[in-house]
Amino acid sequence: MPVGKKLTSLAYELLSKKNAAIYNQAIMDFGATVCKPQLPLCASCPLQKKCGAFLNNKVSILPIKEKAIKKTQRWFYYIVAQYKNEVYIQERLQKDIWQNLHQFVLIEMPEKSSVQSVINSNAFKTVFGSIKYNVAENSKEYTQILSHQTIRGNF
Ligand code: SF4
Repeated sequence: MPVGKKLTSLAYELLSKKNAAIYNQAIMDFGATVCKPQLPLCASCPLQKKCGAFLNNKVSILPIKEKAIKKTQRWFYYIVAQYKNEVYIQERLQKDIWQNLHQFVLIEMPEKSSVQSVINSNAFKTVFGSIKYNVAENSKEYTQILSHQTIRGNF
């Protein structure tokens, strides 16, 4: 089992199900005041006798940091296409974390793009073909930071 999964499973096993909120707060306080990443207070730590890092003289090398995650940058342009009182909504079919969710028409561009570039893209033409339209508005740029990617874009 990968280390991350093992730790998650162990953490869940140890979690007080009845007092999860208090338990989680206590763990965070313990990490902030006693078992700190820099200079943990092992000499006065109540868990010293059960601590694998302390007993094996590995406090200074644990936890081993995983390699920094390389974040990708993506540019999403959502087309809020309105016809009379209806708005075009599409289902996401791509196999990713948003699969089967619904969204405004998404045109993903390889880089920051102007409205005109989005309109000129093949992805836009594939969805809208030769439909006549009028661009009423272009929103400000929004940013959503996720663990593995940063998404920027407009509506
Ligand atoms: S003894 Fe272990 S649990 Fe306690 S502060 Fe040191 S490293 Fe953390």
